[in-house]
Amino acid sequence: METCFGPLHDAVEGRARLVLLSPHLDDVVLSCGSLIGELADRCEVSVVSAFSSGGAAPHTRAARRILASAGYRDAHAYYRDRRTEDERAVRHLGAQPNHLGFADAPFRRRVVPRGLGRAAACLPELVHRYPTVRFDIARGRLCAGDRDVRVALASALEPHVENADIVFLPLAIGGHPDHRLVRDLGLNLAAPVVYYSDFPYNLTHRPDAEFLRHQRLRSWCYDGPSWRKVEAVSCYRSQFDGLFPAGSIPRLPETYWLTEAAAHLVVTGPGDHHARGVR
Ligand SMILES: [Zn+2]
Repeated sequence: METCFGPLHDAVEGRARLVLLSPHLDDVVLSCGSLIGELADRCEVSVVSAFSSGGAAPHTRAARRILASAGYRDAHAYYRDRRTEDERAVRHLGAQPNHLGFADAPFRRRVVPRGLGRAAACLPELVHRYPTVRFDIARGRLCAGDRDVRVALASALEPHVENADIVFLPLAIGGHPDHRLVRDLGLNLAAPVVYYSDFPYNLTHRPDAEFLRHQRLRSWCYDGPSWRKVEAVSCYRSQFDGLFPAGSIPRLPETYWLTEAAAHLVVTGPGDHHARGVR
């Protein structure tokens, strides 16, 4: 049976270059794995993960808890293994993995006066931008100091998107600051943009209605084969128990939101690209 790619049909027929931006080392595979598994045989697909590193000790209590829940104490070892897991997962889907190496939110440090830096040896929360999960990350608080991350991300991303026909970004459902930082990159991209529904946040949160309205996004649901996605998600061994406490991966349709430019996309084929990049 022919797979239906809906509004992306012309892009798929034209063997488009697709770039999917992932805040963390698993978001794109968890949220878009079924679609990638089908597209990668017909298009050039690359997955770019932004926040793919940890930071130096001492860590906050929240960060130590994250490491311990996966059986780690050392953040460098944890993220090294997570990058390896991600490379396997993304390649399994037939796509090209890329890691930008920015520090994950619980490990991101503030710039502080020297005296405070010494005090932080006793209380690391003082020098981290997101000292807790519950009161900072889960509440969707975006640290003002992350302005520098926003600028550096856009710059690091430029070579990855300059020849892209479509760029996929998270809709940032649930408001995680790292997801919001990556989502907002879409506001300044020249290439047509598609937003994806962030799994597992989309199980418990609704999309930002104001963002959908402001960007005039139209939803599209992809309910194609998911066996390849299930195999790819299984590569994330360090995350599996936390993501799927019941031990099985739910087979759910994937939801995408298309900008007008993406909804009317016509790609005429390889070699017809013009430099797009970040505006
Ligand atoms: Zn994430």
